[in-house]
Amino acid sequence: MTDIAIVTGAGSGIGAAIAARLAARGDTVFLFGRREKWLKAVAASIDGNTIVHPGDVRNRDHVQAVVARAEELGGVTHLVNNAGIMPIAPMKDANSTDWRDTLDVNVLGALHAIEAVLPGMRSRASGHIISISSVAGRSPFPGAAVYSASKAALDSLSEGLRAESAADHKRGGPSIRVTTIAPGAVTTNLTESIRDESTRAGTEAYYDSMSAVLCPDDIANAVMYAIEQPPHVCVSEIVLRPTEMIR
Ligand code: NDP
Repeated sequence: MTDIAIVTGAGSGIGAAIAARLAARGDTVFLFGRREKWLKAVAASIDGNTIVHPGDVRNRDHVQAVVARAEELGGVTHLVNNAGIMPIAPMKDANSTDWRDTLDVNVLGALHAIEAVLPGMRSRASGHIISISSVAGRSPFPGAAVYSASKAALDSLSEGLRAESAADHKRGGPSIRVTTIAPGAVTTNLTESIRDESTRAGTEAYYDSMSAVLCPDDIANAVMYAIEQPPHVCVSEIVLRPTEMIR
């Protein structure tokens, strides 16, 4: 039976690159995200088995539905929690809607997916949950306090899940691997979610100040490295930055 993967936020950027690599290794890949048109375009560009499943990670029922479909085909082998937004702005300009959206997508969205896949992974005694965090979770930068906090929360819940899974496995329970991948600056559409004009200009100027930033495939390489280790190896975290990114 082929492995089955779900990639959230698969309609662009890092998620699209990860989906392509998973499909190339032979996984059947569920492409999950809100914009069906983008998911279909990614599916058309991938040489492999993909299933487009539109949905919003903030909606628990949407996430339960994609996992239920994957369970009918044999169950989720790889979950990639990649969906994320970065509507950053200084805290003094408090925008509680953006704050809530950031935490809902980046933290609760990942929790919805973890909640949905765990029972199946446990019953099959194996699985791999990978979350795309950010170096911002370790080094908050001005203007990005809430985004950074969301990624620090994702780091913590991922590491907590890894520790619980390890303790379970040590007692003879299922072998569920958990990996956090924390990239620095990557060229994607992410900065388009920044509504505050000066923060957006400042972020884009920061990216442009480096002679080379990461590309989505660099992050997909890290995901493949974690997945392709032998079963007794859990790559718990990978941090990768452009070579000239200081923090
Ligand atoms: P993109 O904006 O290209 O990708 C984000 C994806 O998430 C989109 O396809 C979007 O699709 C999807 N998404 C957003 N909200 C939701 C939602 N509520 N439900 C389902 N899907 C959603 O940016 P990136 O590829 O850069 O971002 C991918 C991840 O990488 C994010 O978690 C980001 O925080 C992280 N990251 C990015 C870095 C960078 O420099 N680019 C650096 C470090 C981490 P749609 O809107 O159609 O739903």
